[in-house]
Amino acid sequence: MKVNAVSIRGLSEPDIVPLGQFAREHRLEMRFIEYMPLDAVDRWERGKVLFAAEILDLLEAGIGPLGPSPGQDPAAPALDYEYLDGGGRVGMIASVSRPFCASCNRVRLTAEGKLRNCLFSLEETDIRALLRGGAGDSEIATALRASVAAKWEGHEINTARFIKPERLMHSIGG
Ligand code: SF4
Repeated sequence: MKVNAVSIRGLSEPDIVPLGQFAREHRLEMRFIEYMPLDAVDRWERGKVLFAAEILDLLEAGIGPLGPSPGQDPAAPALDYEYLDGGGRVGMIASVSRPFCASCNRVRLTAEGKLRNCLFSLEETDIRALLRGGAGDSEIATALRASVAAKWEGHEINTARFIKPERLMHSIGG
């Protein structure tokens, strides 16, 4: 079982080691996610991102040394680390400091049938409208391929080109 925790600078630091210990005690995989600009209250700032490297430092200082897990899937969002004493695994989702967009193979379908080719997509493909309009499998497959082909190079959070999508994380899913 994996437990995800978004980590925010100035808020989450005291909880990192207790969460790591809790996960070790209960044989869970704790995964820490860098804070991304998808929050409903629009309070994201780059300065509030607690970076994965800092979280690793806190865990190593508070619990013990960690090393990268062998055989990791390059398309997986988390970089996994293992406690060198064999006490379990921890994942780092370094979406901001180390984007993994180049190997991302994800698309998302919202509850109302909109296909998004990235968490930060500004455009969506309306699969529900196709289905309700009587589109056949090949038409839907063509729409899916077009969406995937239009996938961006990356999310651009770290550049001045970044545009925050209107849709928030809770209405995207995942
Ligand atoms: S391409 Fe989009 S969905 Fe994929 S890792 Fe990058 S930001 Fe996330």
